[in-house]
Amino acid sequence: MSTDQQPCFSTEQSTVMLPRAQLLVENLQAVLQHISSVAHFPNSVRLVAVSKLNPATDVLAIHERTGHTHFGENYSQELLEKAASLPTSINWHFIGALQTNKCKHLAEKIPNLWAVESVDTIKKANALEKGRAALLSTSPSTPKLRVYVQVNTSGEESKSGCQPTTTPALAKHILEECEHLTLQGLMTIGAIARSHESDIPNEDFLMLKRVRDEVAQEVGMRPEELELSMGMSEDFEQAVSLGASNVRVGTTIFGQRPLKKYAAI
Ligand SMILES: *Cc1c(COP(=O)(O)O)cnc(C)c1O
Repeated sequence: MSTDQQPCFSTEQSTVMLPRAQLLVENLQAVLQHISSVAHFPNSVRLVAVSKLNPATDVLAIHERTGHTHFGENYSQELLEKAASLPTSINWHFIGALQTNKCKHLAEKIPNLWAVESVDTIKKANALEKGRAALLSTSPSTPKLRVYVQVNTSGEESKSGCQPTTTPALAKHILEECEHLTLQGLMTIGAIARSHESDIPNEDFLMLKRVRDEVAQEVGMRPEELELSMGMSEDFEQAVSLGASNVRVGTTIFGQRPLKKYAAI
């Protein structure tokens, strides 16, 4: 090698050259560290690593090297494929726009579907209930399916989610009529624009807490018994400091996502 040859990469670029598995592990650990630096209690916040549109090999690399188990997916077909090919020790979260006609299949065919976070109608809850009941009838040791009611806290018409005013009724329906589901808590996506105003407390997070308190009162639970799923790459630290129990982080761990290859069905 001649002495005038430039090194191939600057120090900054060489980070990019880390084997992908190592990079993913480091990113996950950095997010966990940030969470614990703002959490009110140690280990009180669950990190869902959002692996949508990233390959199953990424999920496996993290799971095998760190033992991390909670991963989130948005598209039913992609989740079905990944769940079929990856270890059953993974706890899957379905966090995407939920279609009623996919609910029964998801709840029935994926025993290690840990939670569906995007339930926003009674119909969807009933379809999930039907699927999990069918699974439990043939496989009684399967846990009940945890669900979160997704709340439209930003009032934007384009956002899915249950209206804050109708959330208590949906929560009550799940508790009283869906014996194979467990009401785990409430979830919000929120308005992306608010995530950037980091010195103002995020209105969506405050709203989700208020709705949670109302639901708890309505159904006779303590507020702490209902989780708050809020916070993504842009705003998970603020969400944790405002009391999130579950954060859903994708880009910060996996990098920019590849283009969507699954239709949102
Ligand atoms: C994609 C997605 C996330 C993760 O978003 P990032 O900004 O990549 O962290 C979290 N929650 C939901 C509902 C999502 O669709």
